[in-house]
Amino acid sequence: ADGSGKPRLNVLLAGPRGFCAGVDRAIKIVEEAIRRYGAPVYVRHEIVHNRFVVESLERQGAIFVEELDEVPDDAPVVFSAHGVPKAVPAEASRRKLFYLDATCPLVSKVHREAEHHFARGRHILLIGHAGHPEVVGTMGQLPDGAVTLVEDEEHARSVPVPDGMPLAFITQTTLSVDDTAGIVAALRERFPGVHAPAKEDICYATTNRQAAVKAIAPRAALMVVVGAPNSSNSLRLVEVAERAGCPKAVMVQRGRDLDLSLATGLGTIGITAGASAPEVLVEEVLARLRERFDVAIEEVVVAEERITFKLPAGLNA
Ligand code: SF4
Repeated sequence: ADGSGKPRLNVLLAGPRGFCAGVDRAIKIVEEAIRRYGAPVYVRHEIVHNRFVVESLERQGAIFVEELDEVPDDAPVVFSAHGVPKAVPAEASRRKLFYLDATCPLVSKVHREAEHHFARGRHILLIGHAGHPEVVGTMGQLPDGAVTLVEDEEHARSVPVPDGMPLAFITQTTLSVDDTAGIVAALRERFPGVHAPAKEDICYATTNRQAAVKAIAPRAALMVVVGAPNSSNSLRLVEVAERAGCPKAVMVQRGRDLDLSLATGLGTIGITAGASAPEVLVEEVLARLRERFDVAIEEVVVAEERITFKLPAGLNA
C-alpha cells in the first residue's frame, strides 16, 4: 500500500496493444475526407469496431450507415477497414458516388490472393468467422460458390468441396494464430495438395497482440482486454489470455465498465487492447484502477511495430 492506504496492484501492460496501422489509416481517411470535402461524410459500416472511435468521428461530421442505399447521391462515402464485396464499389460507381476505400491493405492483399486462386481454376476455402464483415467482403470478391467458409477444425474435416477442383485456402486477418494452425493442419491432412498463402494471412498486428498477451498471461490473475464485442481480434485476445494460463479474462469497452471488485485481492493483472481500441481507453482503465489501487505499471514488449500505410491516392497531402 502507498501513503494513501490503497492496496498495491501490479499491472502488466501488453506491448504491442491497441491501434494497428490499418485502423490508424482508416480513421485518418475519414478525418481527412471531412477536412477536404466538408461534413457530412458517410461511412459504410463502423469504420473500425469501436464505439468510442465511431462517436468521436460522428462529432466531427461522419454519418455511419450499414448500406449504400442510405447514402445520398451528393455526399462522399468511405468503406470500412474490414473490406467490402465487389458489388459495393460497383454500385457506388453506377450511382456516380464519390467513394474512398479504407479497406486495410492487408485485407486487400487477401482479396488479391482469392482472385489469383480463382483465376487458376482453384476452389477457395476461407478460414474465418461467419457473418464478420471481413469474411463477407472477402467472399464477395468472387462469384457465389467460388469460396467455401471453414469455421473450425471439425468443419475442416467435413465441409463438402467441389469434386475434382484444385483447392487453396486463405484466412481472415484477425483469427487466433493457434486455432488457425489446427484448422490448416486438418485441411492439409485431408487435402495434401491444398495451395497455401505464400505468407500468413493473419496480420502482423493480430499476431503480435496475441504474442504479447501470451507473454503476460501466466503472470496475471486477471486479464483486462479493452475492446468491443464485435471486434474479432479483441475477442481472440480474451481466448488467448485464458488459454495461456490467466484464470480470468474480461472485455471492457470503457474504463467505467471495469468492475473493480474483480481486481481486489489480486497481486498482478494484465491489460491489453484490441487493434481497434485507442490508447486513451487503456488510460481510462488505468485511471479507473487508480480509484481503488496503488497501481504499479510494467510494460512487457514482445515486438516493435513500425509499419504504417499511406492514405489512398487523392487524400495524400
Ligand atoms: Fe489491417 Fe490487421 Fe489492423 Fe485488420 S488488424 S486493420 S488486417 S493491420
